[in-house]
Amino acid sequence: MEKSKLEQIEKELLNLCEKEFSKDEIIKVKRAIDFAKNAHKDVLRQSGEPYIIHPLSVALKVSKLHLDHQTVIAALLHDTVEDTTTTLVDLKKNFGPDVASLVESVTKLSNIKIKKSWFPLIRSETIEIPEFERQVETLRKMLIAMSRDVRVIFIKLADKLHNLETLSHLPSEKRERIAKEAIEIYAPIAGRLGMGEWRGNLEDLSFPFVHEEAYKKLRSLAVPEIKEREKYLTKITKELKVLLDKNDINSTINFRAKKWYSLYRKLLKYNNDMEKVYDLIAIRVIVESVEDCYAVLGLIHSVWRPLVGRIKDYVAIPKPNGYQSIHTTVFADQGRIIEFQIRTEKMHHQAEFGIASHWIYAEGKTAKLPKKNDLKWIDDFYKMQKKISSPEELVKSLRMDLFEDRIFVFTPQGDVKDLPFGATPVDFAYYVHTDLGNKCAGSKINGKIATLDTILQNGDIVEIIKRENAKPHADWLKFTKTDIARSQIKKITHRQL
Ligand code: MN
Repeated sequence: MEKSKLEQIEKELLNLCEKEFSKDEIIKVKRAIDFAKNAHKDVLRQSGEPYIIHPLSVALKVSKLHLDHQTVIAALLHDTVEDTTTTLVDLKKNFGPDVASLVESVTKLSNIKIKKSWFPLIRSETIEIPEFERQVETLRKMLIAMSRDVRVIFIKLADKLHNLETLSHLPSEKRERIAKEAIEIYAPIAGRLGMGEWRGNLEDLSFPFVHEEAYKKLRSLAVPEIKEREKYLTKITKELKVLLDKNDINSTINFRAKKWYSLYRKLLKYNNDMEKVYDLIAIRVIVESVEDCYAVLGLIHSVWRPLVGRIKDYVAIPKPNGYQSIHTTVFADQGRIIEFQIRTEKMHHQAEFGIASHWIYAEGKTAKLPKKNDLKWIDDFYKMQKKISSPEELVKSLRMDLFEDRIFVFTPQGDVKDLPFGATPVDFAYYVHTDLGNKCAGSKINGKIATLDTILQNGDIVEIIKRENAKPHADWLKFTKTDIARSQIKKITHRQL
């Protein structure tokens, strides 16, 4: 029984590899499978399954991202250094420096030791690390690893996913901690990398272990509603298909219910009023080109009346994590309200796999790392965290800068800058350049003079009035949101005292 499950995963993995990799590369993958099997020989997981099921499953998840063969090999070997007698030198000799360094980074991520200078009250490295400190350190390590090689994060997230899938086999006191960590740290990171599918899976696998009652309640509330809406959406989908065919637009139309944890969060916001969750099930229209996206939007609006303020064009202005789609919410008959999401195949792939999707669409056949620019924000955060002195501040600024909702604003030249929600012209100035922040004397928003504490809105065009003798004020600390601005203001105003 177990044997066949193992064979099945291995077969699926090799099938995928055969589609993507050269003959040489496949031989290396097969060698890594044998190596891992041998290293984890006779070891069982808590579930009673042979251990090798785990690295194989992690490698399978990673291979579905269509990355390079080294990442797949490193996923197969990711637990060998930590859990077996294998050393990094062995890996380097057998699979080269690239694989060895990936495994080394993944191994480091799972060894959370804390920096003593930050937590002077903790004397021993062996005592249980308090949750907050643990989270800070996990976050920091993830950031550092990401800034060096984002492939490490894909392996780590796949590792988390598979561990969550088999969480019920662990003792109950461990379950909650692991699930909570997945929701609070790993899922937001996946989200920030634009990996919607993985983010949703990390959350939904953890949800029942963290809020068991709420999960059960939500399901009993939502399942009948979903069934009811599905019937109606089947009808709408057919009507739309006929309409698009008539207009010579090739399309794939489907619908899928919102993920559980995401629905849970939304309902908390809307006082548990399911009626207000228009995207409980959204209709997804996938077309061949950007032009078709807009054509479909027009056709939908010609049949159903849109709700004011609910048309969102993330094609023209993508979300900071790269997400692109056009959303519109319309009144259908019998007072029903439906959300449509329109996108191309490429945008769809980006929406599910985020930054990882850059490999597949790289020119030519050889896989390429994402462009430097795609990773710039990771680099910025990495540099920033080195300057921050206390762990409380690090968590605060990370939550703010990395995970909270962000807005996009423009420079007068039309460059897009993304800032955390609540940011002001001073934050903007420092984000563009330290010098611009330090010499900021006033600002214009959309061409009109605005005070420096004005809260910026999505799409604002922000112009900073610079004066050579201007200086930052300590007062600015009352309204600035970003760490980049606050640390500069503190530095300079302290000097003036
Ligand atoms: Mn593992």
